[in-house]
Amino acid sequence: NIAEKSSKKWAYFHDDSLRKESDTMKMAVELKQALEQNKLALYHQPQIDLKTLRVCSSECLIRWSNTQGEFIPPTVFIPLAEDIGLINSITLWVIKTALKQQKHLIDEYGYNHMVSINISGKDIAREHFFLDVISIIEASEIPADKIIFELTESASFSSNKQTIELIEKLRDIGITISIDDFGTGYSSMSQINTLSFQELKVDRQFVENIDADPKRKVITKATVEMAKGLGLEVVAEGINSKEDENILRGFGCDIGQGYYYAKPMAFNDYIDWLNRLDHGRIVDGLTGEFIP
Ligand code: C2E
Ligand code: MG
Ligand code: MG
Ligand code: MG
Repeated sequence: NIAEKSSKKWAYFHDDSLRKESDTMKMAVELKQALEQNKLALYHQPQIDLKTLRVCSSECLIRWSNTQGEFIPPTVFIPLAEDIGLINSITLWVIKTALKQQKHLIDEYGYNHMVSINISGKDIAREHFFLDVISIIEASEIPADKIIFELTESASFSSNKQTIELIEKLRDIGITISIDDFGTGYSSMSQINTLSFQELKVDRQFVENIDADPKRKVITKATVEMAKGLGLEVVAEGINSKEDENILRGFGCDIGQGYYYAKPMAFNDYIDWLNRLDHGRIVDGLTGEFIP
């Protein structure tokens, strides 16, 4: 009886893990097809200069809906792409698309803010990445000093000699290097010490609803102070309210990003959103008034 029960249990787990594995394989095949058939999309979320309240940059965020129309979050398929060796092609597609859209914003509308692109640790580990980036930038006619690469500290990101050299080469041609989700990685302090970044993004877990949380205030204030002391530009992710914004501005944070200003938008919606601003200044989404 017990044996029967436990073998059933085993069979259940066994089936389940097989099903999971085949789901993952199916997703991998579909993702590859989506990339080849140009069915991925790039959304834009504005970043706001907290001194002038003007849009100073846009973070490009990848979006994918599979053939059944289900939305798959990037937190699911980016790690998958890293596992199956597809991340390099995805990243190059993202950079190409981001710069093409940037060119469109300049040529058609005269907007000329920075463009911020997420780069995987796996990209940085690949030696040919630098040459690929150079050729995309050259073809795009976008100056490299308008481009920010956001790197997330993660297991796939090791600060070895080769990585450090590649990051320095990217900096040398004018790209701004930003450390993303600061505070959530396993070696934040060590990385900030060994790698040369120009921008630091405080993770949203320290920023969201900061007004109601004394602990977050202490952590974030200290992080901003440290970053400013190191001469870095500081971005706060996850600004959700006027209160969040005021607190971060009070700490000396340079740039804000979050649902308070705007959620990530499809490119056309992003253009409409920009067009509704007053000379690049943001207005309160709820009241329609200028955010002072
Ligand atoms: P991330 O780079 O830290 O991007 C910020 C994430 O926070 C985005 O999630 C954005 O939609 C979300 N966010 C922004 N403001 C708020 C807010 O006020 N509240 C809340 N709750 N969320 C906010 P998303 O687009 O789902 O992306 C998740 C992660 O996936 C990104 O985190 C990044 O690590 C990765 N990712 C997205 N696009 C790409 C890409 O093109 N390439 C690579 N390598 N990774 C990407
Ligand atoms: Mg990012
Ligand atoms: Mg982030
Ligand atoms: Mg994040």
